[in-house]
Amino acid sequence: MGVTIFKERLHTVTEIIRKTAQKCSRDPDSIRLVAVSKTKPADMIKKAIDAGVTILGENYIQETRKKFDVLSAHDASWHFIGHLQTNKAKYAVRMFDLIHTVDSLKLAKELDKEAKKIGKKQNILIQVNVGMESSKSGISENETLRLIKEISLLDNISIKGLMTMPPFFDQPEKVRPFFTALRKLRDTIKSASIPNISVDELSMGMSGDYEVAIEEGATLVRVGTAIFGERN
Ligand SMILES: *Cc1c(COP(=O)(O)O)cnc(C)c1O
Repeated sequence: MGVTIFKERLHTVTEIIRKTAQKCSRDPDSIRLVAVSKTKPADMIKKAIDAGVTILGENYIQETRKKFDVLSAHDASWHFIGHLQTNKAKYAVRMFDLIHTVDSLKLAKELDKEAKKIGKKQNILIQVNVGMESSKSGISENETLRLIKEISLLDNISIKGLMTMPPFFDQPEKVRPFFTALRKLRDTIKSASIPNISVDELSMGMSGDYEVAIEEGATLVRVGTAIFGERN
């Protein structure tokens, strides 16, 4: 796969983002595309960067460490979107500008400790399990406000918003209620005016449903397949 195909795919996705934003009177620039590069090799990711991808989404620390070594000189921002184990926090703070998947005080404290060591303020999102599927990571809607209040006291962590990963449906419309619920939860948290945090970011929507997510307020869409092709 050459740079051209990435340019085409990026153009297609960017146009859909722009048109969907306009349709619901949102500024297209308020929506950022996270190109999910998990399982894809460094040479392919480099082509995507050359084609104009600016944010990469990765799910696995070990895998990212190898690719990051090769690609860190290139101009792209790395976001972590997978399940993060506390014992990998020290690697995460070194590589990622935004960690989308913090769902416990224990993990936040570990990130705070490791971020402090390298003099960084780590940006994070709180992963919410909207709909409470037992198999998924994320904190329940009921517990989110309390967790955010606790994490807001950590000096080297900066909360920027919320993330969700709804159950899989083949019809995007079925996912809409989960996106709506995350937006409403964001509005509730915003009205609580907790010091030292912002909850402007909503990370939601993947290749199959990012249009619906944008209609419901997404500011970060995590698109893998539509840019990098099917995963092996
Ligand atoms: C893999 C992954 C994506 C991208 O999924 P696609 O359907 O390939 O766009 C988005 N978010 C998370 C959390 C993922 O793990």
